[in-house]
This record gives sequence, C-alpha cells and structure tokens, in this order.
Amino acid sequence: MKILLAGGAGYIGSHTAVELAQKGHEIIIVDNYSNSSKKVIDRIEKIISRPLEVFEADIKDKESMQPIMKETKPDCIIHLAGLKAVGESIENPVEYYRNNIDTTLTLLECMKESSVKRIVFSSSATVYGEENPIPYVETMKKGNCSNPYGWTKYMMEQILEDAACADKELSVVILRYFNPIGAHISGEIGEDPQGVPNNLMPYIAQTAVGRREHLTIFGNDYPTKDGTCRRDYIHVMDLANGHLKAVEYAENNKGFDVFNLGTGEPYSVLEMINAFEKASGVKIKYEFGNRRAGDLPEYWADSKKAQEILGWKAVRTIEDMCRDTWNWQKNNPVGYA
Ligand code: NAD
Ligand code: UDP
Repeated sequence: MKILLAGGAGYIGSHTAVELAQKGHEIIIVDNYSNSSKKVIDRIEKIISRPLEVFEADIKDKESMQPIMKETKPDCIIHLAGLKAVGESIENPVEYYRNNIDTTLTLLECMKESSVKRIVFSSSATVYGEENPIPYVETMKKGNCSNPYGWTKYMMEQILEDAACADKELSVVILRYFNPIGAHISGEIGEDPQGVPNNLMPYIAQTAVGRREHLTIFGNDYPTKDGTCRRDYIHVMDLANGHLKAVEYAENNKGFDVFNLGTGEPYSVLEMINAFEKASGVKIKYEFGNRRAGDLPEYWADSKKAQEILGWKAVRTIEDMCRDTWNWQKNNPVGYA
C-alpha cells in the first residue's frame, strides 16, 4: 500500500514509517519540521536501506497539500501532524486549535478531492477526561478534557466521525495512544523534544546523560501504592505496529472505529526511575515537588478491542522500553542536533 504519513518526521511518525516500510509498504512523509529535524529522514532511510518520498509542507495549507495528494495518490493517510504540549496549549490555545483542527480539515478536503478513502488518526487517552473509571474502554463517554490540547483531540475525533457518517465510502480509524516511550532498537531514531522535556521518559533519559541536573517528581501524595502517579507506558515500536494493523483494517472496513493502544499495565513514576536505572546502570537524581496541575493519579488502557478486532497486542516490556530509550539517548546525547 502507498501510505502518506502527515507529521511523519516526528517521534511516533518516524517509528511508524520504519515499521510500515519494513512490512513492504511505500511511504510518503509530509512535515513542516515545526517539531522535528530533517535528519530524521536520513536515519529512517538508513534503517530501511531505501529512499523515502518526502515533502516539506504545512499540512494546514491546502494550496501546498492539494498537489501533493494529487501527485502521490496515497491509499491511506496516517494523520500524526499536531502540536502536543499540554502546558503550551494552555498558554496558546488559539495556536493549538488552529494547527490541530486545520490540519485535519485540510486533509479531509484534499482526501475528498483526490478520492482518498482511508485515514488513521493519532488521538490520545486524554479524551477520556477526568471522570471515567479505570481502565478506560472505548465505549466510555469522552469529554471533560483538562486542557486545550485534549479538546483539540476530542473535536478532531468528532470531525472525523461526522465525515465518516456523511461519506459511507470513508474508513476512519482512531487510535487512542496511552504513554508512548522507547525508541527503535537500532538507536538511530528516538524521542528528541525541543527545549526542556515535558514528559517523564525523555526527562529521565536527559538526566541520565547529564543534560538535566535532576528530575522533579510531580507529587508523592497521590492515592496510589507509592504516592506517585501511575501511567500505561507503551513501547513506540508496539505503537508503530498498531498503525500497521490499523491501516490493514481500514483497507477492509468502511466506517468509523476507535481503538485504545496501551499495555493495560500501569507503572508509577518511582517504578519507572527504578526500571531505567536497572537498564542503564546510571543513578537518576530526583527530588519530590508539587503536583502538576491537571495530572490524574492513575489510568491505563483496556486494549481488548484492539486485540480482538485488529489482532494487535503490545509485546515489549518495561525493560525493553528503558533499554531502547537509553540506547538512543546515550548514542545521541543531544538528540538530532
Ligand atoms: P511530534 O511532535 O514528534 O510529531 C508531530 C509531527 O507533526 C512533527 O514532526 C511536526 O513537525 C509535525 N507537524 C505539526 N504541525 C504540522 C503542520 N501544520 N504541518 C506539517 N507538519 C506538522 O509528536 P509525536 O509524539 O510523534 O505525536 C504524533 C501525534 O500523536 C500527535 O498528533 C500527538 O498529539 C499524538 N499523541 C502523542 C502522544 C505522545 O505522548 N507522544 C500521546 C498521544 C497522542
Ligand atoms: N512526571 C514527573 N516529572 C516530570 C515529568 C512527568 O513526575 O518531569 C510525571 C507526571 O506527573 C505523570 C507521569 O510522570 O505522573 C507521566 O507524565 P508525562 O508528562 O510523561 O505523561 P502524561 O501524564 O501527561 O500522560
């Protein structure tokens, strides 16, 4: 299949490109590099040992996207392009709504004009909001998001569902990711956030490699077994494999569907530090700080639906996730810079 990865130079997109290419699919990457490096492309090509078709473009911009879509005629789109920093979305909500919603609308318009009928969308566990019981199941009510980033995902899911309802030939697959971490086993590609990392794993990895002095644990008074928050961390290559299964599913099924992608097994912040120390042999300096606004004590995925319908299951362990993160970070102490 010919698959266009919108935002394919990013963390999840680059790993997905490798997974799909190694399964024989033809990959097209479109990215404006607003949160990624052009060096990613060379690294992906090195892993898969062949050139990629790559376009530098702003996906919101229809005049740029229309010719790309007409020229490449993909069988399926994977829409990963979006701004994703929760704190930044609170400071600049309009920028987040503009970028995230408009990329989705432009892609849907271009798909219609080029008769592209399949789209897989990167959503997030954040759409379950603050009130659902755990584990999260796809049938639960969405909403009560704690920040504009979450609301953009909520709205984009709705837009895609409405589009699928109106065009019975469309196939829309929503993937709700839990907490992607880890890196490709080669150590060639991995997570390289710009500036100070917001997320736990890159912060730990950058502390281990000496770029950060110490980690601050946001709260140790939560009603969890060790007082720190628990999350469902999933290896980015398991997630990449989820996209492969979703693309195959979209080929054979029309309509709108939603799948959680998680392991179903939560780990606390302290457990993550411990696992990383074991995998790397490096002691992580940390101190306890205040809770971070909007953090929930714990949540994890029920991913039975993905297992039953997509035939997908996360297979990599927390040890694999920490080993591969460390392999990437120690080989690339300053990321792609
Ligand atoms: P990322 O920032 O590494 O990748 C996103 C890519 O999209 C970047 O390369 C960026 O340059 C590109 N992009 C953004 N706006 C664009 C535009 N207007 N035109 C062209 N390119 C544009 O993020 P990621 O971690 O790979 O996440 C991919 C998707 O998955 C995002 O939609 C994100 O919201 C979602 N998601 C991520 C996580 C996570 O923890 N990483 C969790 C849940 C959902
Ligand atoms: N966390 C932390 N220190 C950090 C970054 C994150 O203690 O510097 C905690 C955070 O409070 C949460 C967990 O690590 O409990 C995972 O946070 P992350 O931002 O990676 O994912 P999210 O919780 O937003 O899904």
